[in-house]
Amino acid sequence: MNVLVDLGQTGRLRSPDREVLTLARTLAAGGAVTALTHAPRAEDVAAELGGYGVSILYAPEGEATDLSLTDTALLDAALGESGATLVLGPNDAETTDAFARLAVRHSAAVITDAVGMAADRTVTKSVLAGGYTTTAAPTTDLAFVTLAPNSVQAEEPEEGPAPEVKPLSVSVSGAAATVTGTREAPASSRPKLTEARVVVVGGRGVGENFSLVEELADELGAAVGASRAVVDAGWAEHSAQVGQTGVTVSPQLYLCAGVSGAIQHRAGMQTSQTIVAINKDENAQIFDIADYGVVGDLNKVIPQLIEALRERRG
Ligand SMILES: Cc1cc2nc3c(=O)[nH]c(=O)nc-3n(C[C@H](O)[C@H](O)[C@H](O)COP(=O)(O)OP(=O)(O)OC[C@H]3O[C@@H](n4cnc5c(N)ncnc54)[C@H](O)[C@@H]3O)c2cc1C
Repeated sequence: MNVLVDLGQTGRLRSPDREVLTLARTLAAGGAVTALTHAPRAEDVAAELGGYGVSILYAPEGEATDLSLTDTALLDAALGESGATLVLGPNDAETTDAFARLAVRHSAAVITDAVGMAADRTVTKSVLAGGYTTTAAPTTDLAFVTLAPNSVQAEEPEEGPAPEVKPLSVSVSGAAATVTGTREAPASSRPKLTEARVVVVGGRGVGENFSLVEELADELGAAVGASRAVVDAGWAEHSAQVGQTGVTVSPQLYLCAGVSGAIQHRAGMQTSQTIVAINKDENAQIFDIADYGVVGDLNKVIPQLIEALRERRG
């Protein structure tokens, strides 16, 4: 099958993009893999794409000024050019928005937040806070599917010729919003919480000394998360909150300290592949779902862990 991958607006390959590209190459099984970037400088992203078997990279001609309407129009134009029957993208807000609009326009199936897809187009989803795994399959020839971060083991790009870059010119009428300026988000050396392979989370038990959690996260190259109790206390930003009313994470390693494991917290992390918990209460609920547990005072355990990691690194 021919697969079109939507790489979004960042103009560089993020970890979820690599996962989508890996899946696209597998599913195409000899069919064409094409990609679309919404960023103006296509060359920045093109170089790596050949290694994922992408033959054509579609890119906007000139600067885009009309937010989501342009995104949808660009994707529609790329879809028409590519002849793809499957459109894949990461499960972020912009991608799901554009996919939903186009699925309606083309009377096509749309499945969001997938954790896998098989060659027969069966899509797997993890639902109800990871409590159930469901499957669904599109009944239309054309299908749009978004992939949850950390669902597929992203492969490293192989040697391959860079794709041909094809500029797309689109015009939209009746734009609901226009970009009047752009500002870079404050740079952080840590990975993004929702995309990170390793997440270190601090709970109320950490107290005001949240820098201990940050130090451990930096030692592991991890993103930092927090329970709601920590956010309510003002020890961490709301953007770091994991759980029902925060973000959902599904990293390869989720390590938490001083978190009791309330149902609302678990709703945002229980699909993590390996869960490690440090808590001084051996009856804490978090141990019910932890793969590894350390019963002890985090103020003693975390410094020892940091020391061991540093020793190991030499
Ligand atoms: C509608 C609703 C939505 C919610 N949404 C969220 C959400 O999105 N995310 C979320 O996290 N919560 C959410 N909550 C709150 C949730 O119910 C819990 O209150 C919260 O998760 C508790 O945070 P905690 O585990 O950090 O704190 P606590 O439950 O107070 O647990 C602290 C833990 O730290 C341990 N501890 C203390 N000192 C130490 C030490 N020195 N060493 C080791 N362990 C220690 C204790 O044994 C305890 O288990 C929500 C609640 C409601 C009602």
